[in-house]
Amino acid sequence: AAKTSGKARFERFEPRMRVAVMERAIVENDLRAALKLDQLRLVYQPIVDMRTRRMQGAEALLRWYHPERGVIPPVSFIPLAEDLGLMTELGAWVIRSACRQLGAWRRQLPPGGDLYVSVNLSPTQFADPGLLDHVRDCLTESELEPHSLVLEITEQVLVDQYSRARAVLAELNQIGVRVAIDDFGSGYSSLAYLLELDVDILKIDKSFIDALTLSPKGPVLVGSILHMASALGLRPIAEGIETEEQLSYLLRANCPSGQGFLFSTPVDPEQIAAIAITP
Ligand code: C2E
Ligand code: MG
Ligand code: MG
Ligand code: MG
Repeated sequence: AAKTSGKARFERFEPRMRVAVMERAIVENDLRAALKLDQLRLVYQPIVDMRTRRMQGAEALLRWYHPERGVIPPVSFIPLAEDLGLMTELGAWVIRSACRQLGAWRRQLPPGGDLYVSVNLSPTQFADPGLLDHVRDCLTESELEPHSLVLEITEQVLVDQYSRARAVLAELNQIGVRVAIDDFGSGYSSLAYLLELDVDILKIDKSFIDALTLSPKGPVLVGSILHMASALGLRPIAEGIETEEQLSYLLRANCPSGQGFLFSTPVDPEQIAAIAITP
C-alpha cells in the first residue's frame, strides 16, 4: 500500500514539477528580453517629512510589466535575475534610470529643491567591482550632487560581504553618496557593524512599525532604535506606515521621516513630479 501511494504521489507531482521547470524556462527567456523590450520600469514611493508630510525623497522600486502576466513584483523575479547572472546589468540599469529620473525632476521642479532618490542594491551588485565607477558615471551624466543619491543595502549583505562592505561604504562616503540600511532590525545580524561602517540612514523595518499598535513591546523597541539612531548621528526612516495611529506614535517618538501607504503607494514618475509641486 505504501508503495502504491508513493507511486501515486510521484505521478501526481511529476507533471506539476515539469510545469514549474517549463515556467522557469519561459520566465528566464522573458526576463532576458524584458530590459530590451522596455518592460522593466521603476515606480517611486515618496519618503516624507513626518510632521509636514512633504516629500523629501523617493525610493525607486522595480516592476516588470509582463505582456501576458501583468505586473510582476520584484520579489518574484529579482532572485531569478540573481541566479541567471542578470542582476548586475539589471541593477546598473536601475541606478542609471533613477539618476536620470531625478535629473528630469530637477529640471521640471522649481530650483533649490533637495529631492533625493533612494535605490536598492542587490547582493551581487554590491559584489560587483564595477559598482563605484558606475555610480560615479551616473551622477556625472545626470549632473547630480552625490548627496542626492542614497543606496540601500540590507544587513545580510553586510554580514555576507563584511570586508568588501567596509571598503565600498568608505568609498561611497568619500564620493558623498549616502548609504541606508534597509529593513533595519529584521536580519540575523549583530549591531557591531555600526561601530565600523559608514552608514547614514537606518530604515526601520515595517515589522517594528506594525508592532507599534500590536504589541506593548513595539513602542519600546521603536523608541530604542530612534534613540540609538539619534545618539549615533544616523537618520532614521520608518518603513511601511499604514495608519494614523502608527504615525502618531512615531511623531511622539520624534521620528523625522517615513514612508508607507498612509502617505503614498509607489507611483509612476509623472505622479512624483505632481506630488513634489503640490505644496
Ligand atoms: P524594500 O526596499 O524594503 O521596499 C519596500 C517595499 O514595501 C516595497 O515593496 C513597497 O511597495 C512596500 N511598501 C511600502 N510601503 C508599504 C506599506 O505601507 N505597506 C505595505 N504592505 N507595503 C509597503 P516592493 O516594491 O514589492 O519591493 C519589495 C522588495 O524588493 C524591496 O523591499 C526591495 O528589497 C526589493 N526591490 C525592489 N526594487 C528593487 C531594485 O530595483 N533592486 C533591488 N536589488 N531590489 C529591489
Ligand atoms: Mg528599500
Ligand atoms: Mg556618509
Ligand atoms: Mg525595506
